[in-house]
Amino acid sequence: MSDESLTLLVVHAHPDDESSGTGGLLRLAAKRGHTTVVVTCTNGELGDVKDPALSLNPEENPADRARLADVRREELARASAVLDVTHLYMLGYHDSGMQGTKTNAASYAFVNADPDDVTGRLVGIIRQHRPHVVITYDDKGGYGHPDHIMSHRMTMAALEAAADGTHYPEAGVPWDVPKVYYTAWARSEMLRVFKALHFLGRKTPLRDPDFDPDSLGCPDELITTKVDIRPVLHDKWRALFTHRSQMGGSHFFRWLVRLGGRWFYRYESLRCVRSPQPIQPLESDIFSGLD
Ligand SMILES: [Zn+2]
Repeated sequence: MSDESLTLLVVHAHPDDESSGTGGLLRLAAKRGHTTVVVTCTNGELGDVKDPALSLNPEENPADRARLADVRREELARASAVLDVTHLYMLGYHDSGMQGTKTNAASYAFVNADPDDVTGRLVGIIRQHRPHVVITYDDKGGYGHPDHIMSHRMTMAALEAAADGTHYPEAGVPWDVPKVYYTAWARSEMLRVFKALHFLGRKTPLRDPDFDPDSLGCPDELITTKVDIRPVLHDKWRALFTHRSQMGGSHFFRWLVRLGGRWFYRYESLRCVRSPQPIQPLESDIFSGLD
Protein backbone atom coordinates (compact mmCIF):
# COMPACT_ATOMS: atom_id res chain seq x y z
CA MET A 1 0.00 0.00 0.00
CA SER A 2 1.25 3.50 -0.73
CA ASP A 3 1.77 5.99 2.09
CA GLU A 4 -0.81 8.30 0.60
CA SER A 5 -3.34 9.45 3.18
CA LEU A 6 -6.53 7.45 3.04
CA THR A 7 -9.83 8.03 4.80
CA LEU A 8 -11.64 5.75 7.23
CA LEU A 9 -15.29 6.44 8.10
CA VAL A 10 -17.03 4.58 10.92
CA VAL A 11 -20.76 4.81 11.61
CA HIS A 12 -21.85 3.99 15.15
CA ALA A 13 -25.09 4.14 17.11
CA HIS A 14 -24.10 5.46 20.55
CA PRO A 15 -21.28 7.38 22.21
CA ASP A 16 -18.72 4.79 23.44
CA ASP A 17 -19.30 2.37 20.50
CA GLU A 18 -16.55 4.18 18.57
CA SER A 19 -14.07 3.29 21.32
CA SER A 20 -15.27 -0.19 22.29
CA GLY A 21 -15.80 -1.39 18.70
CA THR A 22 -13.28 0.49 16.60
CA GLY A 23 -11.06 2.45 19.02
CA GLY A 24 -7.96 0.50 18.01
CA LEU A 25 -8.63 0.81 14.29
CA LEU A 26 -9.25 4.55 14.55
CA ARG A 27 -6.11 5.19 16.59
CA LEU A 28 -3.95 3.02 14.34
CA ALA A 29 -5.27 4.79 11.23
CA ALA A 30 -4.57 8.20 12.77
CA LYS A 31 -1.04 7.13 13.72
CA ARG A 32 -0.39 6.19 10.10
CA GLY A 33 -1.45 9.69 9.03
CA HIS A 34 -4.83 8.70 7.64
CA THR A 35 -7.97 10.80 8.00
CA THR A 36 -10.61 9.37 10.34
CA VAL A 37 -14.28 10.29 10.41
CA VAL A 38 -16.66 9.16 13.16
CA VAL A 39 -20.43 9.43 12.81
CA THR A 40 -22.47 8.77 15.96
CA CYS A 41 -26.18 8.57 15.25
CA THR A 42 -27.74 8.98 18.70
CA ASN A 43 -27.05 10.80 21.95
CA GLY A 44 -27.16 7.55 23.94
CA GLU A 45 -29.41 9.15 26.54
CA LEU A 46 -31.02 5.82 27.50
CA GLY A 47 -27.75 4.33 28.70
CA ASP A 48 -27.48 3.43 32.39
CA VAL A 49 -25.64 5.92 34.54
CA LYS A 50 -22.72 4.09 36.13
CA ASP A 51 -20.94 7.06 37.65
CA PRO A 52 -22.55 8.17 40.94
CA ALA A 53 -20.48 11.36 40.89
CA LEU A 54 -22.69 12.63 38.07
CA SER A 55 -25.72 12.69 40.39
CA LEU A 56 -28.05 11.86 37.52
CA ASN A 57 -31.15 9.77 38.06
CA PRO A 58 -33.06 9.69 34.77
CA GLU A 59 -35.48 7.02 36.03
CA GLU A 60 -36.81 9.44 38.65
CA ASN A 61 -36.14 12.73 36.98
CA PRO A 62 -36.88 12.96 33.24
CA ALA A 63 -34.88 16.20 32.94
CA ASP A 64 -31.78 14.16 33.76
CA ARG A 65 -32.18 12.34 30.42
CA ALA A 66 -31.42 15.54 28.54
CA ARG A 67 -28.50 16.20 30.88
CA LEU A 68 -27.20 12.70 30.26
CA ALA A 69 -27.33 13.38 26.50
CA ASP A 70 -25.12 16.44 27.06
CA VAL A 71 -22.75 14.46 29.28
CA ARG A 72 -22.44 11.67 26.70
CA ARG A 73 -21.83 14.08 23.84
CA GLU A 74 -19.02 15.68 25.84
CA GLU A 75 -17.56 12.26 26.64
CA LEU A 76 -17.70 11.37 22.95
CA ALA A 77 -15.87 14.55 21.98
CA ARG A 78 -13.14 13.80 24.53
CA ALA A 79 -12.82 10.14 23.50
CA SER A 80 -12.51 11.23 19.87
CA ALA A 81 -9.70 13.58 20.82
CA VAL A 82 -7.90 10.68 22.57
CA LEU A 83 -8.24 8.61 19.38
CA ASP A 84 -7.09 11.59 17.30
CA VAL A 85 -10.27 11.47 15.21
CA THR A 86 -10.12 14.04 12.41
CA HIS A 87 -13.86 14.71 12.01
CA LEU A 88 -16.66 13.86 14.42
CA TYR A 89 -20.33 14.07 13.49
CA MET A 90 -23.02 13.71 16.13
CA LEU A 91 -26.29 13.30 14.28
CA GLY A 92 -28.26 13.90 17.50
CA TYR A 93 -31.02 11.32 17.08
CA HIS A 94 -32.60 9.96 20.24
CA ASP A 95 -31.61 6.61 21.69
CA SER A 96 -34.27 3.94 21.04
CA GLY A 97 -33.40 1.82 24.08
CA MET A 98 -32.57 -1.87 24.27
CA GLN A 99 -34.40 -4.40 22.15
CA GLY A 100 -37.96 -5.02 23.33
CA THR A 101 -38.24 -1.96 25.56
CA LYS A 102 -41.15 0.51 25.44
CA THR A 103 -39.01 3.31 24.06
CA ASN A 104 -38.53 1.38 20.77
CA ALA A 105 -41.99 2.63 19.78
CA ALA A 106 -41.45 6.30 20.71
CA SER A 107 -41.89 8.69 17.82
CA TYR A 108 -38.63 10.44 18.74
CA ALA A 109 -36.59 7.17 18.75
CA PHE A 110 -33.84 6.86 16.15
CA VAL A 111 -35.44 3.66 14.80
CA ASN A 112 -38.50 5.71 13.86
CA ALA A 113 -36.60 8.57 12.21
CA ASP A 114 -37.34 9.34 8.57
CA PRO A 115 -35.02 6.97 6.62
CA ASP A 116 -34.61 9.51 3.81
CA ASP A 117 -33.49 12.12 6.30
CA VAL A 118 -30.90 9.84 7.93
CA THR A 119 -29.66 8.44 4.60
CA GLY A 120 -29.41 11.92 3.09
CA ARG A 121 -27.25 13.15 5.97
CA LEU A 122 -24.94 10.13 5.66
CA VAL A 123 -24.73 10.57 1.88
CA GLY A 124 -23.62 14.18 2.43
CA ILE A 125 -20.86 13.04 4.82
CA ILE A 126 -19.71 10.23 2.49
CA ARG A 127 -19.56 12.54 -0.53
CA GLN A 128 -17.75 15.23 1.42
CA HIS A 129 -15.04 12.97 2.86
CA ARG A 130 -14.87 10.31 0.11
CA PRO A 131 -13.77 7.50 2.46
CA HIS A 132 -11.79 4.53 1.17
CA VAL A 133 -13.03 2.34 3.99
CA VAL A 134 -16.40 2.39 5.77
CA ILE A 135 -17.14 0.33 8.88
CA THR A 136 -20.54 -0.22 10.47
CA TYR A 137 -22.48 -3.07 12.15
CA ASP A 138 -23.89 -6.19 10.52
CA ASP A 139 -27.62 -6.60 9.89
CA LYS A 140 -28.12 -7.92 13.43
CA GLY A 141 -26.48 -4.83 14.86
CA GLY A 142 -23.84 -7.06 16.42
CA TYR A 143 -26.01 -8.02 19.39
CA GLY A 144 -29.47 -6.90 18.35
CA HIS A 145 -29.70 -3.33 19.65
CA PRO A 146 -32.31 -1.55 17.50
CA ASP A 147 -30.11 1.54 17.07
CA HIS A 148 -27.24 -0.61 15.82
CA ILE A 149 -29.53 -2.33 13.32
CA MET A 150 -30.87 1.06 12.19
CA SER A 151 -27.29 2.36 11.82
CA HIS A 152 -26.49 -0.65 9.64
CA ARG A 153 -29.55 -0.19 7.42
CA MET A 154 -29.03 3.55 6.98
CA THR A 155 -25.31 3.17 6.26
CA MET A 156 -25.87 0.47 3.63
CA ALA A 157 -28.58 2.58 1.98
CA ALA A 158 -26.29 5.62 2.07
CA LEU A 159 -23.39 3.70 0.50
CA GLU A 160 -25.61 2.78 -2.47
CA ALA A 161 -27.12 6.25 -2.78
CA ALA A 162 -23.78 8.07 -2.41
CA ALA A 163 -22.47 6.32 -5.52
CA ASP A 164 -25.49 7.25 -7.62
CA GLY A 165 -25.75 10.87 -8.76
CA THR A 166 -29.50 10.61 -9.28
CA HIS A 167 -29.93 10.27 -5.50
CA TYR A 168 -29.56 13.35 -3.31
CA PRO A 169 -28.00 15.39 -6.16
CA GLU A 170 -27.70 18.36 -3.79
CA ALA A 171 -25.46 16.34 -1.44
CA GLY A 172 -22.30 16.54 -3.56
CA VAL A 173 -20.35 14.63 -6.19
CA PRO A 174 -21.05 10.85 -6.16
CA TRP A 175 -18.53 8.60 -4.40
CA ASP A 176 -18.38 4.83 -4.51
CA VAL A 177 -16.71 3.55 -1.33
CA PRO A 178 -14.24 0.80 -2.31
CA LYS A 179 -14.06 -1.14 0.95
CA VAL A 180 -16.85 -1.84 3.43
CA TYR A 181 -16.71 -3.82 6.67
CA TYR A 182 -18.96 -4.96 9.47
CA THR A 183 -17.59 -5.05 12.99
CA ALA A 184 -17.50 -8.67 14.12
CA TRP A 185 -16.83 -10.21 17.47
CA ALA A 186 -15.74 -13.81 16.85
CA ARG A 187 -18.05 -16.36 18.48
CA SER A 188 -15.10 -18.31 19.92
CA GLU A 189 -13.61 -15.16 21.51
CA MET A 190 -16.96 -14.08 22.92
CA LEU A 191 -17.38 -17.50 24.48
CA ARG A 192 -13.91 -17.25 25.98
CA VAL A 193 -14.77 -13.89 27.58
CA PHE A 194 -18.06 -15.22 28.96
CA LYS A 195 -16.33 -18.28 30.38
CA ALA A 196 -13.73 -16.09 32.09
CA LEU A 197 -16.43 -13.81 33.53
CA HIS A 198 -18.44 -16.84 34.60
CA PHE A 199 -15.36 -18.18 36.37
CA LEU A 200 -15.08 -14.85 38.20
CA GLY A 201 -18.67 -15.21 39.34
CA ARG A 202 -20.10 -12.53 37.02
CA LYS A 203 -23.50 -12.86 35.40
CA THR A 204 -23.27 -13.99 31.78
CA PRO A 205 -25.66 -15.70 29.31
CA LEU A 206 -23.93 -18.99 30.21
CA ARG A 207 -26.18 -19.16 33.29
CA ASP A 208 -29.28 -19.33 31.11
CA PRO A 209 -30.35 -23.00 30.75
CA ASP A 210 -31.54 -22.25 27.19
CA PHE A 211 -28.24 -20.63 26.27
CA ASP A 212 -27.31 -21.35 22.69
CA PRO A 213 -23.64 -20.65 21.85
CA ASP A 214 -24.61 -20.41 18.17
CA SER A 215 -26.52 -17.22 18.95
CA LEU A 216 -23.33 -15.43 20.01
CA GLY A 217 -21.38 -12.92 17.96
CA CYS A 218 -20.14 -13.63 14.47
CA PRO A 219 -19.36 -17.19 13.28
CA ASP A 220 -15.57 -17.40 13.17
CA GLU A 221 -15.56 -18.55 9.55
CA LEU A 222 -17.16 -15.27 8.41
CA ILE A 223 -14.39 -13.14 9.86
CA THR A 224 -12.10 -11.91 7.11
CA THR A 225 -9.97 -9.43 8.98
CA LYS A 226 -8.18 -9.33 12.32
CA VAL A 227 -6.22 -6.22 13.13
CA ASP A 228 -3.65 -6.41 15.91
CA ILE A 229 -4.39 -3.38 18.07
CA ARG A 230 -1.87 -4.08 20.83
CA PRO A 231 0.33 -1.09 19.86
CA VAL A 232 -2.59 1.25 20.65
CA LEU A 233 -4.46 -0.77 23.28
CA HIS A 234 -3.59 1.79 25.94
CA ASP A 235 -5.24 4.56 23.92
CA LYS A 236 -8.31 2.42 23.28
CA TRP A 237 -8.84 1.93 27.01
CA ARG A 238 -8.15 5.61 27.69
CA ALA A 239 -10.81 6.56 25.14
CA LEU A 240 -13.28 4.01 26.49
CA PHE A 241 -12.83 5.17 30.08
CA THR A 242 -13.47 8.73 28.98
CA HIS A 243 -17.09 7.52 28.81
CA ARG A 244 -17.26 7.68 32.56
CA SER A 245 -21.07 7.78 32.65
CA GLN A 246 -21.07 4.27 31.16
CA MET A 247 -17.90 2.81 32.59
CA GLY A 248 -18.12 4.22 36.10
CA GLY A 249 -15.22 5.50 38.13
CA SER A 250 -14.09 2.27 39.83
CA HIS A 251 -10.33 1.90 39.66
CA PHE A 252 -10.66 -1.82 40.31
CA PHE A 253 -12.95 -2.22 37.27
CA ARG A 254 -10.56 -0.25 35.09
CA TRP A 255 -7.66 -2.34 36.28
CA LEU A 256 -9.63 -5.54 35.60
CA VAL A 257 -10.59 -4.44 32.08
CA ARG A 258 -7.04 -3.41 31.24
CA LEU A 259 -5.64 -6.65 32.58
CA GLY A 260 -8.27 -8.83 30.88
CA GLY A 261 -7.92 -6.79 27.72
CA ARG A 262 -4.35 -7.96 27.27
CA TRP A 263 -5.73 -11.43 26.63
CA PHE A 264 -9.18 -10.79 25.24
CA TYR A 265 -8.94 -7.62 23.16
CA ARG A 266 -5.72 -7.95 21.24
CA TYR A 267 -7.53 -7.72 17.94
CA GLU A 268 -10.42 -5.85 16.42
CA SER A 269 -12.15 -8.26 14.04
CA LEU A 270 -14.17 -7.43 10.99
CA ARG A 271 -16.07 -8.96 8.17
CA CYS A 272 -15.35 -7.47 4.76
CA VAL A 273 -18.46 -7.20 2.60
CA ARG A 274 -17.08 -5.06 -0.23
CA SER A 275 -13.56 -4.92 -1.60
CA PRO A 276 -11.93 -3.96 -4.91
CA GLN A 277 -9.87 -7.17 -4.73
CA PRO A 278 -10.64 -10.55 -3.20
CA ILE A 279 -9.74 -10.67 0.48
CA GLN A 280 -7.20 -13.25 1.58
CA PRO A 281 -8.41 -14.24 5.06
CA LEU A 282 -7.16 -13.45 7.54
CA GLU A 283 -6.36 -9.98 6.33
CA SER A 284 -4.55 -7.85 8.91
CA ASP A 285 -4.88 -4.35 7.43
CA ILE A 286 -8.18 -2.68 6.49
CA PHE A 287 -6.38 -0.45 3.96
CA SER A 288 -4.78 -3.29 2.03
CA GLY A 289 -5.61 -3.58 -1.66
CA LEU A 290 -6.42 0.11 -2.04
CA ASP A 291 -3.44 1.07 -4.21
ZN1 LIG B 1 -24.30 1.01 21.06
